[in-house]
Amino acid sequence: MEKLLEVNNLRVNFKVHGGIVKAVRGVNFHVNKGEAVAIVGESGCGKSVTAQSLMRLIPTPPAETSGSINFKGKEILKMSNSEMEGIRGKEMGMIFQDPMTSLNPTLTIGRQITEGLMKHQGMSSEAARDRAIEMLTLVGIPNPASRVNQYPHQFSGGMRQRAMIAIALACNPSLLIADEPTTALDVTIQAQIMRVMKDLQHKLGTSIILITHDLGVVADMCDRVIVMYAGKVVETGTKWEIFKNPKHPYTRGLLRSVPRLDQKKDEPLVPIFGMPPDLIKPPAGCSFCSRCDEAMRVCLDNDPALLAVEGSESHASACWLAHPYANRGVSV
Ligand code: SF4
Ligand code: MG
Repeated sequence: MEKLLEVNNLRVNFKVHGGIVKAVRGVNFHVNKGEAVAIVGESGCGKSVTAQSLMRLIPTPPAETSGSINFKGKEILKMSNSEMEGIRGKEMGMIFQDPMTSLNPTLTIGRQITEGLMKHQGMSSEAARDRAIEMLTLVGIPNPASRVNQYPHQFSGGMRQRAMIAIALACNPSLLIADEPTTALDVTIQAQIMRVMKDLQHKLGTSIILITHDLGVVADMCDRVIVMYAGKVVETGTKWEIFKNPKHPYTRGLLRSVPRLDQKKDEPLVPIFGMPPDLIKPPAGCSFCSRCDEAMRVCLDNDPALLAVEGSESHASACWLAHPYANRGVSV
């Protein structure tokens, strides 16, 4: 499979009063062409910061970003601002949790779609308007020819989210980054929006990075899963590897803490006790140690690297339990 995006040793630090928050701590992952990849984890685990770094939406300074983000053979972190302008909206689109913060209240929905088309694709205003109506139709907005002239406040929450998808996909980007795109919506609308995204992914061949804490959506939408904890990737694999054979105690905890479709009636949900560590002073050993009921001595002082799970090319876990010696019962 051809790689579209490859992230290596990505680190993002924020200076705050009292120190430096190490929000993303050496993250590696890739996304293939046409693939949908989920990034999951509790809030504050670095998933949104990682996503925003891909589009260079985190201002540096004051933040510090290092490592490598290779997109279609080009290094995002080394691009000039004007090169980056050519990538945003055209090659990478983004959908946020709250459309009201990213839609411009003073411009019609149509204008917000046509702007990118005229700027990035040199379309005439007539052609761009036709394309805007086509996009609104694609995302399932009724009466698109009149809706195109309306302002965001005239749209319902679900329709605004659809309009955001239309804006993000109008230029046919290779990568769509969706950060908790349906969290603010009710369950029925959530399902509709996800269906729209999935259909468009198939129709247009777009790769998707979906950031979510909703594992039901992941099972429905995604091919692969990246589990983040305390600024690191702690487990990655195909969705079946993650759902059916989770290796990292944190992933197992996540799966136990959210409702699942195959949940048995009397099977209780178990929250993960404790709090993630302070990322101003992350622990020397495994970041999950203070919350892990399988912690061993070695975990306290030694941070486990992401290790391939035996017999799989896609599955890896950053836990001493996956260490070959630990598997054989030898103390490490
Ligand atoms: Fe638990 Fe140790 Fe694995 Fe960390 S490395 S998740 S503390 S068993
Ligand atoms: Mg977030």
